[in-house]
Amino acid sequence: MKVTPLMEQYLRIKEQYKDSILLFRLGDFYEAFFEDAKIVSKVLNIVLTRRQDAPMAGIPYHALNTYLKKLVEAGYKVAICDQMEEPSKSKKLIRREVTRVVTPGSIVEDEFLSETNNYMAVVSEEKGRYCTVFCDVSTGEVLVHESSDEQETLDLLKNYSISQIVCSEHLKSSLKERFPGVYTESISEWYFSDLEEVEKAYNLKDIHHFELSPLALKILAALIKYVKYTMITEDLNLKPPLLISQRDYMILDSATVENLSLIPGDRGKNLFDVLNNTETPMGARLLKKWILHPLVDRKQIEERLEAVERLVNDRVSLEEMRNFLSNMRDVERIVSRVEYNRSVPRDLVALRETLEIIPKLNEILSNFGVFNKLAFPEELVDLLRRAIEDDPLGSPGEGKVIKRGFSSELDEYRDLLEHAEERLKKFEEKERERTGIQKLRVGYNQVFGYYIEVTKANLDKIPDDYERKQTLVNSERFITPELKEFETKIMAAKERIEEMEKELFKNVCEEVKKHKEILLKISEDLAKMDVLSTLAYDAILYNYTKPVFSEDRLEIKGGRHPVVERFTQNFVENDIYMDNEKRFVVITGPNMSGKSTFIRQVGLISLMAQIGSFVPAQKAILPVFDRIFTRMGARDDLAGGRSTFLVEMNEMALILLKSTEKSLVLLDEVGRGTSTQDGVSIAWAISEELIKRGCKVLFATHFTELTELEKHFPQVQNKTILVKEEGKNVIFTHKVVDGVADRSYGIEVAKIAGIPDRVINRAYEILERNFKNNTKKNGKSNRFSQQIPLFPV
Ligand code: ADP
Repeated sequence: MKVTPLMEQYLRIKEQYKDSILLFRLGDFYEAFFEDAKIVSKVLNIVLTRRQDAPMAGIPYHALNTYLKKLVEAGYKVAICDQMEEPSKSKKLIRREVTRVVTPGSIVEDEFLSETNNYMAVVSEEKGRYCTVFCDVSTGEVLVHESSDEQETLDLLKNYSISQIVCSEHLKSSLKERFPGVYTESISEWYFSDLEEVEKAYNLKDIHHFELSPLALKILAALIKYVKYTMITEDLNLKPPLLISQRDYMILDSATVENLSLIPGDRGKNLFDVLNNTETPMGARLLKKWILHPLVDRKQIEERLEAVERLVNDRVSLEEMRNFLSNMRDVERIVSRVEYNRSVPRDLVALRETLEIIPKLNEILSNFGVFNKLAFPEELVDLLRRAIEDDPLGSPGEGKVIKRGFSSELDEYRDLLEHAEERLKKFEEKERERTGIQKLRVGYNQVFGYYIEVTKANLDKIPDDYERKQTLVNSERFITPELKEFETKIMAAKERIEEMEKELFKNVCEEVKKHKEILLKISEDLAKMDVLSTLAYDAILYNYTKPVFSEDRLEIKGGRHPVVERFTQNFVENDIYMDNEKRFVVITGPNMSGKSTFIRQVGLISLMAQIGSFVPAQKAILPVFDRIFTRMGARDDLAGGRSTFLVEMNEMALILLKSTEKSLVLLDEVGRGTSTQDGVSIAWAISEELIKRGCKVLFATHFTELTELEKHFPQVQNKTILVKEEGKNVIFTHKVVDGVADRSYGIEVAKIAGIPDRVINRAYEILERNFKNNTKKNGKSNRFSQQIPLFPV
């Protein structure tokens, strides 16, 4: 195959982007060649053709984003190669360069993103210390986490629903295995080596400014290099790194996030969706972060709660404020797009509209005494108002983006274009008169430009100054010096408009960039305002109460489960009282009676309080927990190859390792995945350990044996769920009361579940027979009692 200069150019560029699909701009298309073409054609379901023997598949340039999204979602990395000069007749080969490398984690365009954060995680490990830097390129947020605990790292990666992992080579295969659905890429060591990158990106004099460990700094350097590589720019939009540590926040393990259904996931209904009545995308993102990272500092929590309370107390202003917020747009992402030169004219309109609301919003802020007034960049607003059309059409360069009156030169050219039609009409009239050809027509076409068209029949009438341009079947096309001159002017005007409008748009963007700090501060303030006012709104809407804190008392009166109550009619409220003396609750009761709901609700109420939210209860006095642990339900970790029992024991091991006297531990069935005797023994031993540790524990169990703990430990209280029997029917009241379940009602639950009557009746028979036998043997009436081994304490 003879390699043309164009192909040579392609191959040279492709060589630098071997691991990506290269989309190569050729006129109106982005083309993929060779293996890339085969993948593109398959993934996008488009035709595979050939160009000089090379397999080729192309997508129209204007539909790039749609197709790009599909490729990236299918797990490919895509390099976009653009034409860097206008095609012209004089030049054979125009300059082409890769302007963008697109991966799931390096996206700023709105079409690709949902409202939620889109995190990429850069992960590395050194001598047993794991460090992760999370970055949302579309907002500029950077979060750093470091720990010697691999599991904590994995939990965070999971909780943050990352879309991409970038890691050291030695971690790649294990991370890929752990996160099979996530695009994972390894980078070579030199990415981590250049700490100057950090200094440059943040304009720092001293890198130690950030108080990050050497490992964290290396990863930050790698992140910066990687983002530069994908965004093809030296100017990044990265906020200063924020450290996530157990000291300031609760870092929840992923099992707890799932068990308590905190955020949207496989389980459907969740706390975030219930609470998320935010009005802005920034607020929605922040709320999720608050839920994932409850505070552990009482003062900070109380500050939030007080703010919420003040908002609750002035409903009129609250409503007004939320009204203003609802008209505000995603400033955070707009700033990012502007910074990466990927903003569209509508972004600037949205920015202006958002900023214009600030003075009105500021007026009511003083009503609460909670928020500082937002900054108002008046000059910028004024510039945007003057420069950008209210309803801009197309992209800059087409003449419909910059407002009239902003640049007199641009307006002149636009006038020229707008009057061109008129002038052409006049010219046509004049020529008809001059030649006497009534059917003479002036037209325009892309290739030949302006022309005068005369039908064959009239050719004898054309004057001398008509110069032939093109011959058609029934007519000939001509040009005259006058038309030629007109054409040159029009073309020049179009070109000038294109240049000028692009330039002016760019200048406006530069002005926006200059205001970056202030805009990001506004966005941050708005997000916080939005979340606090949403918590206030929720408190009113759902009838929540302000919690108060105490050293060690946990007292909930009339508590509800914030999620279950939304989907259940007549939700039954429940109370609980725990303190240092009474810190271990064993809850027995039949299946489906509400045990899980109850212990989860205690966890959720505590967690909500620690994010600064009011809680679903009539009264709540709570300790500030350092962490909430959960061990619930039966889950097979099929991908991880762990059985239910192993998963259960793994989770339990974590709790035993990490819980402190300030922790809340929620256990729902421990020891079920093995034989009853083993299970009871393990559950008992674990309970002893936790009682000694001093944490607060709610333990829902089927093992009635565990209620015996109460006899041995004064810290233990037994609770059960009241079941009423009315004739043959049982009614689950969902009411938590003192005591021990006297029956398991398993057969009744089976009946409710739809097991046929004959099987149910047979089950009663068997039960009856065994019951009698046992009673005979032991001479006791409680049929559980014979199962209870006497535990030595
Ligand atoms: P268990 O853990 O005892 O098997 P669950 O907590 O899963 O029971 O509760 C079973 C169902 O009972 C829940 O899906 C819910 O619909 C209902 N339920 C639980 N608690 C309450 C309550 N306090 N008020 C009303 N319905 C409840």
